[in-house]
Amino acid sequence: MKRPDLKETVSRLLGPAAPEVDCDVCFDQLDRYVELELAGDDADAAVPGLRAHLEGCPACREEHESLRALVSGDGPSR
Ligand SMILES: [Zn+2]
Repeated sequence: MKRPDLKETVSRLLGPAAPEVDCDVCFDQLDRYVELELAGDDADAAVPGLRAHLEGCPACREEHESLRALVSGDGPSR
């Protein structure tokens, strides 16, 4: 029997298992995460552990929110 094991796929991509990212990784991945989010893609799958980190880290959550506001309001036209 075979079922898609997202966690395994993802940890293979990331290297060592990363159930939750730390602030450095969070900061590093945050713009990509926000872009995917705003594009309607599965940002949680693309950057595993980041959401968990945001929930547990007020500083990064705030950063996430301001980045989201910035990206979504930052259109090419005026
Ligand atoms: Zn953090």
